Amino acid sequence: MALVTISGYPSSGKTRRAEQIRNHLETRLQDSAYIGPKLKVAVLSDDSLNIDRGAYNDGRAEKLARGALFTALQRQMGADTILIVDSLNYIKGFRYQMYCAARESRLRVCTVYVLATPELCREWNTVREDGRAYLPETLDSLLLRFEEPSSMVRWDSPLITVPWTDEDVPADDIWKAVTEGNVKPPNAGT
Ligand code: ADP
Ligand code: MG
Repeated sequence: MALVTISGYPSSGKTRRAEQIRNHLETRLQDSAYIGPKLKVAVLSDDSLNIDRGAYNDGRAEKLARGALFTALQRQMGADTILIVDSLNYIKGFRYQMYCAARESRLRVCTVYVLATPELCREWNTVREDGRAYLPETLDSLLLRFEEPSSMVRWDSPLITVPWTDEDVPADDIWKAVTEGNVKPPNAGT
């Protein structure tokens, strides 16, 4: 049905945003105004695949991790699923590859760019308590390599940017991108 690609710096708040998106989507799918097909929301992440942060310390391990993510993505994509891919997704070519796979399966797509300053990411990385911190030098190297999503290219579009100052994600925009046309107009009869 749809693929929601999260992209953002390490420790920028991607998982937090992915959970907000999941909650909004599940609430709306359960709402009586929703008249589309029965859908479930799934989140695919490094954590759900047990990929350790250490994989990003080393190019070869990282490549293997990306392969594992892509394989899982292909397995979990489907007509009955809104799949949220919560990973760095910082390589333009990789986002392109995911986009092609999604379109081949006739999925709707959208990219959510989780934005935080490098300083905040470093700070949040230092204080995180979930054992999922990146090594400081790995974090810095990922910041340098990061290839920003762009609304000018079709594989990142529609692009929804969420700055760190926003309390919540723009749920209406995301909902529209993934399910357009499946909701009763507000004043329609029952
Ligand atoms: P990522 O998935 O990008 O690594 P997380 O969502 O796991 O990031 O967040 C990393 C850490 O930063 C967590 O400890 C989280 O509580 C904190 N954090 C994330 N976003 C914010 C925010 N907007 N304000 C304050 N702290 C945040
Ligand atoms: Mg995360």
